[in-house]
Amino acid sequence: MNDFELSKNFSFYELAKTDNKNFAESNIIEAAIYKDALYNLCADILERVYDMYAKKPLITSAFRCADLNKVLGGAPNSQHIKGEAADFILEEVSNEEIFLRLRNSNLFYGQLIWEKFGASSWIHISLGYPYRTKTRSLESFIIEDGAVKDFGKKQCL
Ligand SMILES: [Zn+2]
Repeated sequence: MNDFELSKNFSFYELAKTDNKNFAESNIIEAAIYKDALYNLCADILERVYDMYAKKPLITSAFRCADLNKVLGGAPNSQHIKGEAADFILEEVSNEEIFLRLRNSNLFYGQLIWEKFGASSWIHISLGYPYRTKTRSLESFIIEDGAVKDFGKKQCL
């Protein structure tokens, strides 16, 4: 399946690709089923982050089919399996700075997580309502080596 534009700055492949060779093709094929969510993830979240920093978020993992998600140890109900979540970093910007800035911005998200695992660190962000319930939107916390370190929730819009 050919690549196509999801938004001004993001292509379908960027959100559907995986480094795991066993899922390289199947993950892209399955991602197409969730392209409406991926469009919204780009328009409502990733393009907004791009605008805030005038810098492109580098997607490390967005859509994951259920089997890939299992291999990667993701939560079974992860929004990644519905094309509703992306993990990213920004070159030359610390994840702490991104986490705090997005948490204090007016960006409407589902979950904002600063994930740290060993020497790796990235930002997980997902779509909020209607993809999650209103009460389960705007959750933000830190996960360090599997343990939740801090939890905060903003007032729901
Ligand atoms: Zn994630």
